[in-house]
Amino acid sequence: MKLATIGVGNAGSKVIDRMVEFEQATGRDLCRHTLVINTARTDLAKPEHVPEDRRLLIGETHQKAKGHGVGGDAAIGAEVAQTEIDDIRRIFDDVEIHEVDAILVAAGLGGGTGSGAAPVVIEELQKMYDEPVYGLGMLPGKYEGGRPALNAARSLQSFVNKVDNFIAFDNDAWRSRGQTIEEGYEDMNRELATRIVTLLAAGEVDESEVGENAMDSSDIMRTMEVGGVSSIGYASTGVDTPDDGLLSRFSEEEVSNMESTDAAKIKGLVRRAVNSRLTVPCDVASAERALIIFAGPPSEISRKGVESARDWLEQETETVDVLAGDDPRTDSDTLAAVVLLSNVTDTPRIKEIQDQAVDAQDTIQQQEAVREEEIESLITDDDNDLDPIV
Ligand code: GDP
Repeated sequence: MKLATIGVGNAGSKVIDRMVEFEQATGRDLCRHTLVINTARTDLAKPEHVPEDRRLLIGETHQKAKGHGVGGDAAIGAEVAQTEIDDIRRIFDDVEIHEVDAILVAAGLGGGTGSGAAPVVIEELQKMYDEPVYGLGMLPGKYEGGRPALNAARSLQSFVNKVDNFIAFDNDAWRSRGQTIEEGYEDMNRELATRIVTLLAAGEVDESEVGENAMDSSDIMRTMEVGGVSSIGYASTGVDTPDDGLLSRFSEEEVSNMESTDAAKIKGLVRRAVNSRLTVPCDVASAERALIIFAGPPSEISRKGVESARDWLEQETETVDVLAGDDPRTDSDTLAAVVLLSNVTDTPRIKEIQDQAVDAQDTIQQQEAVREEEIESLITDDDNDLDPIV
């Protein structure tokens, strides 16, 4: 697939940056256009793979943002984007949308810029273009507290209502002990970029290499068109360097045994992808559609294995809508299986964030009410004998 990618806010921009890094390192060509948008000048300088002229600072003249960010206030993030929608629209003018199949907007949902401004950007993109707009959202960890949960629960509603499909990444599930938060984010962003790029870059191999089993961009888009929230699973294994003419030295029976080992390897890889950490933990059976992509040397992808892996996933997801195909990468020294579970409706972490958000909203409202009373009582004398001057 060919993508235009837009990172909004700090986390969104960092993930887009890692996607470009991963695709360059692996010889893929997914992100045809990249753009980052932020309210904080310092964060806007962080990406290493986004051209200078593809970075847009918004809110510079806003009385609260002033180029220093929105302090985690999603309402200001949204307001700034709405006020400067003409500048945002103008920067899209340079994007040759007819060259891309879809647009991906990434953001961290717990902060102010990504959670507030990204839905405004998405709304505008949906008005401007016919191409699908996908969302990629990082859900805040429980440890971050109530305010990020509240931002995320509200922003999630806007995202899912406005995008054609929303891929979720749960920071809580991916947090590992013994690391600083920043180190943790670095690892998470790499893991996420690997999954997204392996999934969406399929269907873009040189015409001459495309076999009948190759996955097509339209298959990926078909799996995503159901909307809702999606999760991605991934597993990879190293592959031996090819030894020409090796098979000719074995008997037919031995070759057949090797083929069934290869088939078992493929099926095992897909099981591992689904049973290990998903981008957002979910009940696999709640997926509406699913898709498997095998990225690696075609000689390693056993057809029998692909068939049995697909059958297995059909049973797991309890849906007949499971597509499987290859992303042939002849020179790759790994074979990866990436599984997209599209429109999963049972994701406990989202429920948890909503509960945390409701509690936070109640607490904030109570505190505001109490604070007003306290200020009133502080500035009023005991018998209320005094009047303000003006
Ligand atoms: P914004 O710039 O105002 O949108 O705020 P940030 O993007 O800095 O942070 C928003 C949320 O994203 C935080 O609450 C974290 O949950 C998450 N976050 C921040 N940085 C990263 C990152 O590098 N990776 C991931 N996965 N999540 C991040």
